[in-house]
Amino acid sequence: MRFVIKSPAPPMVEVAGADERFPVHRIYCVGRNYEDHVREMGSDPKRDPPVFFSKPADAVVANGAAVPYPPRTSNLHHEIELVVAIGLGGRDISLERALDHVFGYAVGNDLTRRDLQAAAKGSGAPWDVAKGFDHSAPISAIRRADEVGHLATGTIWLEVNGEPRQRAELSEMIWSVPEIVAELSTYFELQPGDLIFTGTPAGVGAVVQGDSLVGGIDGLDTLRTTIV
Ligand code: MN
Repeated sequence: MRFVIKSPAPPMVEVAGADERFPVHRIYCVGRNYEDHVREMGSDPKRDPPVFFSKPADAVVANGAAVPYPPRTSNLHHEIELVVAIGLGGRDISLERALDHVFGYAVGNDLTRRDLQAAAKGSGAPWDVAKGFDHSAPISAIRRADEVGHLATGTIWLEVNGEPRQRAELSEMIWSVPEIVAELSTYFELQPGDLIFTGTPAGVGAVVQGDSLVGGIDGLDTLRTTIV
């Protein structure tokens, strides 16, 4: 097929131990999925259940690559998260079959313009400018589920310039991975290539130009990002 303008490069993520890449179809995200983070954001985990939002597929940033400090914010926050890579699509996926749809897992950072998110929450406006900006989704190489298994436990952590910022257990997630896949598939028909950022634990905070972010999850690659 030929196009009338220059065709954009397809977004993709590395797969650990493979030359082949994972093509990114969509990026879905879960908000408010750890109770301590819900509280630090001023919400009540009993009253405010997890929510879905999204980022554009081309927001992905490769492990080790620099992220330019985004415009229109003075409060850029890190959010370390487990990322689920969907290998088999479907809709109305059952809890029992949900993990059959998972190709693998990665470590991601749901970078957030926190000031714009607070303004959106206050006015009832959408979160797109707070969440869906360019370079807002650094992600490690995907580890295949048939190699590392399915992740429900293990430590998730993030350091900024060597200082601990976030540290929690995946078992603290309010919605588990199967619950997220099943619930999300009632809103959208999931497709191979979808990524799901599953929410961040407590400890989110600001980063500035020059900061070095290092984060990980037991069994997955370490995600390294520099803000420039
Ligand atoms: Mn998040």
